Formats: sequence, structure tokens, C-alpha cells
Amino acid sequence: MKSSSLIIDTHACTLCRLCVSACPLGALSTGDEGVVVDERCNLCSACLDACPVGAMSIQCTGGSAREMPSLGEASDDIWVYAEHRRGKPAGVSFELLGAARRLARGPAAVAAVLLGHEVAGLAEDLITAGADRVYLVEDPELKDFRDEPYTHAMAEMIREHRPSVVLFGATSQGRSLAPRLAGRLKTGLTADCTGLEISEDGLLQQTRPAFGGNIMATILTRRARPQMATVRPRVMKRLEPDPSRAGEVIRPEVSRPFSSRTELLEFIEETETVNLEDADIIVSGGRGLANPKNFDMLRDLARELGGALAASRAAVDAGWVPYSIQVGQTGKTVGPKVYIAAGISGSIQHLAGMSSSDIIVAINKDADAPIFKFATYGIVGDLFEVVPALIAEIRARRSRG
Ligand SMILES: Cc1cc2nc3c(=O)[nH]c(=O)nc-3n(C[C@H](O)[C@H](O)[C@H](O)COP(=O)(O)OP(=O)(O)OC[C@H]3O[C@@H](n4cnc5c(N)ncnc54)[C@H](O)[C@@H]3O)c2cc1C
Repeated sequence: MKSSSLIIDTHACTLCRLCVSACPLGALSTGDEGVVVDERCNLCSACLDACPVGAMSIQCTGGSAREMPSLGEASDDIWVYAEHRRGKPAGVSFELLGAARRLARGPAAVAAVLLGHEVAGLAEDLITAGADRVYLVEDPELKDFRDEPYTHAMAEMIREHRPSVVLFGATSQGRSLAPRLAGRLKTGLTADCTGLEISEDGLLQQTRPAFGGNIMATILTRRARPQMATVRPRVMKRLEPDPSRAGEVIRPEVSRPFSSRTELLEFIEETETVNLEDADIIVSGGRGLANPKNFDMLRDLARELGGALAASRAAVDAGWVPYSIQVGQTGKTVGPKVYIAAGISGSIQHLAGMSSSDIIVAINKDADAPIFKFATYGIVGDLFEVVPALIAEIRARRSRG
């Protein structure tokens, strides 16, 4: 069985105690025999960074050593996982290419990794959106996203080309693929980043909300490579497509077969509503709707406006609507032109997913509801009167032409 431990080189150690101060868990102390480690140590490696004489190391025994290529071994390249569903690209990939272009320094190339079946046509779009290179793997087995074949292909390519950074959308695909890949490569992953920067020493600074959105944490992957992050849709800005950009399409060799323990029996396309992340208008309901049936009223309003239906977590947790339409910290991030929030109080976690909307219209019977502090237009009233009145007015205006 594999186990790891913190090793202290007693000859090199000067007992300066910087490691003791650096340990976030208070697991280090000094005694007669030098630095002592207790059971609280979780091998976070903060002490390794603090030690000025390199006297501390983490060693693996009884298993394969942790894959930690030195910084020198990784290239500076930044990769973006080019997500799509049966050839229909996800907007977040273009946003990430915009972010990658901004982050790329000196000789670093921006590459998109495109896996699928008969998807070569997308490569051009990825290049015009900012990629210098597209790594394209086409195979009927990759037609639909499945964790195992996609992880296998990505891992092989990353081991071969050693990019410095790999970015994914924080979508259901990205949230499934990135952690599996990070586990396979034994590297770090920061989920749901809202900010990415490159530090002066070339590290990816991955910023994300922590502790319920009350603080922003900036996380570094100091040793392992690649540095991996997921970013929610609509957080980064895509570049204006530049058709004059040139890039190369590389078809790397990836070993087959792509084995998987899951078999796709049927592919059912979502047809009911406009995709939430791409919607210009969103009508969202919360606990104030009181029961699932009342969401029909919001569906009608969304339909009249050509928009999509969304909800707060309270409505999702109550089982009134599916999780796939939850907006907020643990749901989707949206940035429509108009976001109508009906019966939603405006918790910090809900705001985390919609506060970048251009116009926010709040309907709430409580004049002191926090949502009104963020709303562009506030309607203090009973949503069961306001929403039907809005629908009736839209229909009346439409019939008048
Ligand atoms: C770690 C964590 C993650 C979370 N993630 C999310 C997330 O992703 N998304 C999310 O939404 N929440 C999230 N939450 C939950 C969040 O804290 C709130 O509990 C939730 O957003 C409240 O939903 P709500 O506004 O629908 O309900 P409430 O806060 O109960 O508000 C209901 C509102 O409806 C109004 N109302 C009632 N009846 C009427 C009526 N007839 N007409 C008009 N107004 C009416 C009330 O005045 C009230 O303001 C998270 C919480 C935690 C701790």
C-alpha cells in the first residue's frame, strides 16, 4: 500500500522554526530532537515552501511516487478543453480561449483540445477565437462525452505535451472530466474560478469564492503540473472572432481502444427551453412561488419573452424544479440582458450566479428584501398578481401589433 510522510533532514535543519509558523494545522513543533510532526499533518507542503534550507520533503513509500514534474519540464502552454455536444460547441470554451490568450506569456502557445466524432469543422472556430493550435482526436467512441474515454485521451496528450495550464468550463462535462483527470495526473484542481492571473514567477493564480462567498481565495498549484482549473460560463470574456488568425490542427496519436464501463443507450436532446447559459432573458422563481404548479406561470412568462426558466436553490431543494436550472453559487452562473427574479429574496449565494445580468427586475412582496438593493427595477407586490398582469400586458401589446 502506498503511504506518504513528511521527512525532515536533521543535518540541514537550522531549527529556525519558520516551518512551525507556516503550518496551518499547528502540526509542527520543535523538541530536543529537532522538528516534530504530529498526526494533524496532512502533507499540505506549506512547510516545504517556508523552509529556507530545503530540509523538508514529502516521500512516498510502497507505491508509485507522486507525479510532480519540475517546473522546467512543463511547457508554458495553456490548454483549453473544447467542450461540445455532438459538435455543438459550448460558449464557455470560447470564453476560456479569450482568458488563455490574456494569460499566455512569451513563447507560450494557446491550444484547444477537441475530442469527438466528425468535429473537425469546429477547429476553425477555435482558432478564430484565440487558439494557436488545436489538438484534434476523432473517433466514433468519442462521439458523446463519457468520462473514461475522454480522461484517457486527455491524460495521454497531457503527459506527452506537458502543458503548464489546462482550463475547463465548470459545466457538467468539465466538472466530471477535470477532477477525474486531476486524480489520474496527481495534480491540483481549483473548481469554479472567478479570476485567473499569472504571477510574476509564472504560477497560475486561481481565485474563487470560499466560505459561502464571504472571502475570495487565491489558490496556487506550486509543484504539480499541469495547473488545472474550472471556470463557470459567462465569467470570462470571449474575444471578438478574428478570421485572419492562423493556427495549426494537430492530430495526436492516442492509444486505443477507448474502454468505458458506461454505455450510452440513448441521447435525448433538451428541447423544452432555451439554454440557460445562452439565454438573453431569464425568468427565475424562488420559494415565494409556494408550489411546483405555480412555476407554470413563470414558464408562460419566459415563453412570451423568448427566455429561459431558472430558479433559486430553495425552489430546487423543495423538488419543484430540476437542479439543472438552479442559479447561484452551487448552480449555474448566468449573465443575461434581463433577469426577472420572482419570489426570490436575493441571498449572497443566489446573487453569485446572476449579479452580472445587465438588467435585474425583482418582484417581491417584502419591500426590505435584499434583492431590491441589486435590482435595476423593483416591483413591490404579490407575484401572483404581478406576473399574470405582465403576461396579459405582453399578450395585449402583441395582439395590438
Ligand atoms: C453553501 C451554500 C450554497 C448555496 N447555493 C445556492 C445557489 O446556488 N442558489 C441559490 O439560489 N441559493 C443557494 N443557497 C441558498 C441561499 O442561501 C438561500 O437560502 C436561497 O437562495 C433562498 O432562496 P429564495 O430566495 O427562493 O427563498 P427565500 O430566501 O425564502 O425568499 C423567498 C422570497 O419570496 C418572497 N415572497 C414570498 N411570497 C411572495 C409573493 N406571493 N409575492 C412576492 N414575493 C413573495 C419573500 O418575501 C422572500 O423574499 C446556498 C446556500 C449555501 C449555504
